[in-house]
Amino acid sequence: MRLEAFHEVPPTAGLPPRWRDLLPWRGPSLAARAAEFLGVEEVQVTCSGTAALVVALTALKRRSARTDVIVPAYTCPLVAIAVAHCGLTLRPCDLVVNGIDMDPATLAALCDDNTLAIVPTHLGGRVADVDTALACAHRVGAWVIEDAAQALGARFADDASIGTKGNIGFFSLAVGKGLTTYEGGLLIAGEAGLREDLRRCGEEIARYDAALEIARSAQLIGYHAIYRPLGLTLAYGLPRRNALRSGDAIAAVGDDFSLSIPLHRMGDWRDGVGARAFVRLHDFQEKLDKQAVRRRSRLGSIAAITVFQDRDRVRGTWPFFLICMPTRAARDAALSELWASHLGVSRLFIHALPDYAYLRDIVSALPLPNAREFAARTLTVSNSLWLGDEEFEQIACALERACANRNGGAV
Ligand SMILES: *Cc1c(COP(=O)(O)O)cnc(C)c1O
Repeated sequence: MRLEAFHEVPPTAGLPPRWRDLLPWRGPSLAARAAEFLGVEEVQVTCSGTAALVVALTALKRRSARTDVIVPAYTCPLVAIAVAHCGLTLRPCDLVVNGIDMDPATLAALCDDNTLAIVPTHLGGRVADVDTALACAHRVGAWVIEDAAQALGARFADDASIGTKGNIGFFSLAVGKGLTTYEGGLLIAGEAGLREDLRRCGEEIARYDAALEIARSAQLIGYHAIYRPLGLTLAYGLPRRNALRSGDAIAAVGDDFSLSIPLHRMGDWRDGVGARAFVRLHDFQEKLDKQAVRRRSRLGSIAAITVFQDRDRVRGTWPFFLICMPTRAARDAALSELWASHLGVSRLFIHALPDYAYLRDIVSALPLPNAREFAARTLTVSNSLWLGDEEFEQIACALERACANRNGGAV
């Protein structure tokens, strides 16, 4: 019998680390390997996805007196923190009903000649609508920054990497997002002049910080040591269950971010670890795709739920399934059974941006009904290869029960 208590499934299917990636390395750099993987000319490595956004906004701010940055109202709180860090004004845009995209009419109404940038966001491996953002941006003369922090490897219908349609794109190499250097980011831009600006900004903003680099290196080694079912039980399962027991959902998903953003350069050793990991990413993502196809069809058999998918011939990645339940009560019923289990069920961000108490000073209170509904009705199911078919079936049955339950399923 498998001891459930010691078989923690990670909430996102991260690229499993390998010890030999930690050995000294003289091969191609992380930037070179990432450029090859993304199919772009050049990649700038930053110390985090948030730092990449700070560099991007700083570079744009030097080119324009505009102050507003439009982001989806349901996104990572770090995005709001980055905008505030740059002294810019956050304009959260409500979502479409039952989707990750900004509502086109709301977005169009928010855009004016004070809009510096629009940030379409590829949440949970899904490919967001960048075209609408581009059309709005062109109309008012703003830039588009694609937030691809959660979707490294996702491709548009023409096979180009996400992040390449907008003027600027960035990816996160943070722990829990897939391929990781514990913290790290990748920044890309199509236009050579903009790339030059970004590079100069990056060099000015982020200096080498030996103490921080040693800390991150130690954390990356620790990650290699714990990334297995038993290790995750101790490092992820126990703290999460403790947070849930004390009713702290924000701590349970790690949404409790600091308002200060570490800005430094990634050291050569971690750069090499990331460079070697990149070689394995394509094959790993193909395995996840195959598993996702089968499991999506099972989840699709549950009529009351929506499993977010990709449009047309677009190819997203599958770190987890993002699922919308019919009601908040059904979502909470499912979570009360699954969230504290070892099965890799969780939530994405707990709130729409205005509902985080710690963001009070940087996000204004707005209605944003669709973003709030999205926060209230969604949950995530891991697509980790460690989640066995029987365990996955347990999750599917629990979702069915939560929808069927009179109190949970009824509006
Ligand atoms: C994680 C995340 C970020 C920030 O990336 P870090 O590498 O953690 O700084 C930005 N946007 C989204 C949507 C994210 O999920």
